[in-house]
Amino acid sequence: MARETPAGDLRLADLTKRFGVFTAVDDLSLTIEQGSFFALLGASGCGKTTTLRMIAGLEEPTSGQVLLGDTDIARLRPYKRPVNTVFQSYALFPHLDIFENVAFGLRRRGIRSVDDEVARMLSLVQLDGYGSRRPAQLSGGQQQRVALARALINRPQVLLLDEPLGALDLKLRRQMQIELKRIQTEVGITFVHVTHDQEEAMTMADTVAVMNAGRIEQLGAPADIYEFPATAFVANFLGQSNLLAGEATGASGGDVALTAHGTRFSVPAGRSRADHGPVHLGVRPEKLILVGSADQVPAGHQHVTGVVTDASYVGVSTQYLLRTGWGTELSVFAANSGTSTPVAVGSEAVAYWDPRHAFLLPRDAADT
Ligand code: ATP
Repeated sequence: MARETPAGDLRLADLTKRFGVFTAVDDLSLTIEQGSFFALLGASGCGKTTTLRMIAGLEEPTSGQVLLGDTDIARLRPYKRPVNTVFQSYALFPHLDIFENVAFGLRRRGIRSVDDEVARMLSLVQLDGYGSRRPAQLSGGQQQRVALARALINRPQVLLLDEPLGALDLKLRRQMQIELKRIQTEVGITFVHVTHDQEEAMTMADTVAVMNAGRIEQLGAPADIYEFPATAFVANFLGQSNLLAGEATGASGGDVALTAHGTRFSVPAGRSRADHGPVHLGVRPEKLILVGSADQVPAGHQHVTGVVTDASYVGVSTQYLLRTGWGTELSVFAANSGTSTPVAVGSEAVAYWDPRHAFLLPRDAADT
C-alpha cells in the first residue's frame, strides 16, 4: 500500500471531557509520534474509549485540542478527519461479500476501479481468495481482519482500534496481536490501540500510556514502564509488584537508604523516585529468588525471610507466596527451568534480589 504524505504527530493538548459533573478525561496532554503503534491501557471506566472517540470525532471535547501535525481537528466532523476506527464488534455489512465490504470506502468516494486495491488489502490481511464469502462464513479472527482491511483501504493517517481483539479467544488474540503489529509496520500508519489487557499493550505497542481516572499515570516504552514504574498504580496494573512500605532516609554514595519493618535496605539512586520520607520499595515477583537460608544469599544482594504459605504450579513457573515475619505476603515467581528445586509449603525460606532490580516510589496517603 502506498504511503500518504505524513500528517505529522497526533497531539492531545489539555483535552478534557465532562459528562455533567463527572470528568471522564481530565486535562490530558500527550504526543503520539507519526507512524508509531501507541496503546492506551487502563481498567474499565478510566476514560480510554472517550479519548479515542474524541480523536475519531464521535465525542466533542469539553475543552482542549486534538492536533494532527499543526491542524486542530477536534471540531471537525468524523468523516472530515483522516482517521478511521476499528471496533471490537467488526461492524461488517452482513449482506455484502468480503470484497464489497472492503471496497465500501472506495465506492462511497465514487472510485470505480477498486479491484487492485481490494486485492492488495485482502493480501495484506492474509485473506486472498476470500472475496466472495459472506461475513457469516468467516471466523471471528477473519472477520476482524476484514474490518481492518476495510479501514486501511481509506488510507487514514491514523487508525484507531477500540479493543479490536476483545471478542477473540486467547490463542487467536495472541496470533492477531503479532499480525496487527506486522501490518502496522508494513503500512506505517499511526495506530492508536485501546485495551485493558496489559500483555496485549506491551506485545504490540512502541509506546504505552497507562490511564487511571481520566489521566495518564505513565507513558513510555513497554520495557521502561514495566521495569521502572512511576506510581504504585502502574506497578500493580502492569504485571505484579511486591511493594514494601518504608521510610527513605536519604541518598549517599549513589544509593538511597530506607528502613522498612525495622530492616535497612537500599536502592540505586537511578532507580529511586524519592530519597526521603514515605516510600514503597518495589520488587517484581520474577526478580525474587527463593532459597532455604540467608547464607545462600550472594554478596551485594538484599533479602527478607519468611514462611512459604502457597505454591502454585503454572507450567512455565511456580508462583510462591512468602509470608514475612511482619505479616506481608510477597509473591515470588520461580521459573521451572528444570534446574530449580521446588520449595515446600510450610517451610522457612529467604527471598533475595539484586538491588539494581528494585525500585523506589514515593508513597502517599492514597497508596496502600
Ligand atoms: P471500558 O474499557 O469499560 O470501555 P473506558 O476506559 O473506555 O472503559 P470510557 O468508556 O471512556 O471508559 O468511560 C469513562 C467514564 O465516563 C466512565 O465512568 C463512563 O461511565 C463515563 N461515560 C462515558 N460515556 C458517557 C456518557 N455518554 N454519559 C455519561 N457518562 C459517560
